Amino acid sequence: MLSDIEKLLELQVADREIRKLQEEVAALPKRVVAIEEKLAGTKAHLEKIRVAAKADEANRKKFEIAIQDQQGKISKYRDQSLDVKTNEQYKALLQEIQFAEQEIRINEDRILEVMVNVEVREKDVKAAEAKLKAEQAEIEKEKEEARKVTAEDQKKLAEWNAKRDGLRREISEDWLRHYERVMKFRGSGLAEAREQKCMGCQVMLRPQTYNEVRIGEKVVVCESCQRILYFDPANEVKVEQQVAEAVHARRRPRPKADAAQAWFYRPDYGQEGEVLLVFTNDGSTSTRRAYEMHTGRQIGDVLGREGTYRLAFPEDLTDSAIRLNGQWAEKEMDEWGTEIPSNALDVLHNDLRAAQREHHAPAHKQRSAAAEHTAAR
Ligand SMILES: [Zn+2]
Repeated sequence: MLSDIEKLLELQVADREIRKLQEEVAALPKRVVAIEEKLAGTKAHLEKIRVAAKADEANRKKFEIAIQDQQGKISKYRDQSLDVKTNEQYKALLQEIQFAEQEIRINEDRILEVMVNVEVREKDVKAAEAKLKAEQAEIEKEKEEARKVTAEDQKKLAEWNAKRDGLRREISEDWLRHYERVMKFRGSGLAEAREQKCMGCQVMLRPQTYNEVRIGEKVVVCESCQRILYFDPANEVKVEQQVAEAVHARRRPRPKADAAQAWFYRPDYGQEGEVLLVFTNDGSTSTRRAYEMHTGRQIGDVLGREGTYRLAFPEDLTDSAIRLNGQWAEKEMDEWGTEIPSNALDVLHNDLRAAQREHHAPAHKQRSAAAEHTAAR
């Protein structure tokens, strides 16, 4: 992988960590504020109950005074009754006494009512006080926790920032600027190219673009989302693995008719006998490599012609040619030198055997390359 891409990947990790930590640090005081608001609500409620309790107390005093007042009046009337001369005067005093006694009963009822209220309010006050205490304890804990986490986060932030600064110095300026511009608008500046797709925007990449990313000789960006593309071989579904799985399942994957690379087996290739041929389409041209079937030794040089391989090499695609599964990067094949390595050769041999087993079914014995081509469409 290119050094710029490696560093950018590390930078993206650092950028994400920094953003996460900054968000966490910013969120902590908000949590404290939320609890403080709750606390203020409880305090206000408690204050309201206390004011109401005071009003109850004042009312009780008022009613008690009213009772004392009436009692004073009654004893005054009783004293006066000793001096009355007429029946009318006596009756009038009795009425006054009855009225005062009635007033006393009314005020006694009022006091009872207030006493019931006081009991309820005392319970309310106790509950609100307990709630307040719990919330105060919670807020202290939360503040302490926030202080601790903030300190830890600040330390981590300093470390990540230092790492980030170091990485930024090692990345070429143009790509750094490109990365940061895309990062700002899309939240990420890099995307993996996997199975012909940009994993950032899910758009299919042109075969040439995809191959350039795989080869990794230059920095390539996704034409649709502008993210810088990278290729992770660990996520590549290996052809070897696909074939092995297919053989295991006794089912052979059908080679894609429109693949940019196509392998064929020819049992009768002039004086060479059995050979393996691989054709690669590259834009408006195509290439052909030929290998000896059993040893994997290359026969002749790489041959290039105008047009796609089906048009450019018609003489090679005879009825006896069997299309095989196989897909290796051009660069990898260049590195093979003059011989197919044994693991790749095994893949091709296994696939050929699977293809021949399929073709031994009597209805389509020795299915031709042309038939395969048509069937796959
Ligand atoms: Zn994209």
